[in-house]
Amino acid sequence: MADKRKFDLVVVGSGPGGYWAAIRGAEYGLSVAVVEKDARLGGTCLLVGCIPTKALLHNAEVLDTFRRAQEFGIRAGEFSLDWPLAQSRKDKIVNKHSKGIEFLFRKHKIEWIKGRASWAGPGRLAVAPPEGAAFELEAKNIILATGSEARLLPGLKAGGRVLTNVEILSLKDVPKSLVIIGAGAVGVEFASMYVRFGTQVTLLEMLPRVLPVEDEEISREIEKALKKQKIAIHTGARVEKVEPGPDKVKVSFTAADGKAQALEAEQVLVAVGRKPVTEGLNLEASRVQLERGFLRTDGFMRTGEPGVYAIGDIVAGAPQLAHAASMEGMVAVAHIAGRPIQPLDYRLCPNCTYCEPQVASVGLTEQAARDRGLRYKAGKFSFAGNSKATILGQHEGFIKMLADEKDGTILGVHMIGPLVTELVSEATLGMQLQVSADELMQTIHAHPTVYEAMLDAANSVYGLTINM
Ligand code: NAD
Repeated sequence: MADKRKFDLVVVGSGPGGYWAAIRGAEYGLSVAVVEKDARLGGTCLLVGCIPTKALLHNAEVLDTFRRAQEFGIRAGEFSLDWPLAQSRKDKIVNKHSKGIEFLFRKHKIEWIKGRASWAGPGRLAVAPPEGAAFELEAKNIILATGSEARLLPGLKAGGRVLTNVEILSLKDVPKSLVIIGAGAVGVEFASMYVRFGTQVTLLEMLPRVLPVEDEEISREIEKALKKQKIAIHTGARVEKVEPGPDKVKVSFTAADGKAQALEAEQVLVAVGRKPVTEGLNLEASRVQLERGFLRTDGFMRTGEPGVYAIGDIVAGAPQLAHAASMEGMVAVAHIAGRPIQPLDYRLCPNCTYCEPQVASVGLTEQAARDRGLRYKAGKFSFAGNSKATILGQHEGFIKMLADEKDGTILGVHMIGPLVTELVSEATLGMQLQVSADELMQTIHAHPTVYEAMLDAANSVYGLTINM
């Protein structure tokens, strides 16, 4: 029995950071356990984040297709959203994949330990299980992958009329009206989803533009598209007060012109960012260094405590994205197992927002290139010139490519339009391999495809254009 409680690697948290790391650890021949406080495996991404959100966004897309059926020469007859069915489809998807992780853990002989872990000294973790007495684990290596949770505004509590990414996924009914605070990925995706379900949506964003991490031109284009879909948008809006009442919630804010305004809605979604989950880990007693609640790591994801690594949303200065967490897990485990590995280059981490139209990007924005004093050339190709986009009936948007003025190395690619969350893969791999726009111009792209717009974008860097 004592042997069972000793592991080469203990991972705390089973999100896309933690479960990837655990499986790769087992593949490398390590004995692995995962401690998870939730009753199901998968973490935020699978249980209350990326997967259920994208599942419901797909319902919105299907609904859109029905609405436009006539355009495609199809008489659709009567149709409507069956909310309980849409919800149960989403739940099935989540459960299937959570069970999938359980299966993979069994296959790789990874022990799933239910409970809350905390630091108990070098090479040791204490676990408080949901029932029964606490116990200790011995771990040669520990990977902390405890993730993040929605940040709320001061004085606000989630529940009732106040929602975070968690509650908004299991509403009993589609709300008639919804105010969303924050126009980052969470805010914009839910705005794009609920407006198509028939909700009257208002987006309030503190900064001057929506999706402020994206290139400015992309922000402008998505704002235009969302407004066209009848989403009310206030940028430069500072939320002052949120007052939930019995029938409505009142949101007071100072608008960009300095005037006080107030809105009432059935629900409010707070989407103003996420905070790391580190409470109760007892890290104060360790040599792990914290930076405003986030854990400081080196390029191999090592914290200041020997044998303790951190990955995912708790890492200081890293993107809070599922795919970043998974890859950080790969780096940490390879380092633990003594396999060759390079630190990640976060500049090559793609950003995807699954709104309509989709937004995706990798690399430097124009502003970032200017701030770095780089000399670059920019090209832009509109999906209006892409025949497959016309076939799909989705020719909104464009691809903008930035390339080094001297040698053409791609510095950044920014996209808005059909399937761009898939198209960004070519840009990401190209940048990882330090490909130049010229090399992309010489790469045969299949026709007719949406992705051949990348070829046109590379051509446009040199002022060449065939399809415009
Ligand atoms: P975010 O930090 O991306 O965006 C929050 C937005 O809220 C910012 O634009 C900020 O300016 C604004 N804001 C902050 N305080 C405000 C206030 N008081 N009033 C009005 N606006 C305010 O956070 P998020 O959208 O909650 O997402 C959290 C994390 O999860 C991000 O890192 C995001 O990239 C990630 N995420 C990714 C995806 C995806 O990849 N598709 C989807 C959802 C979330």
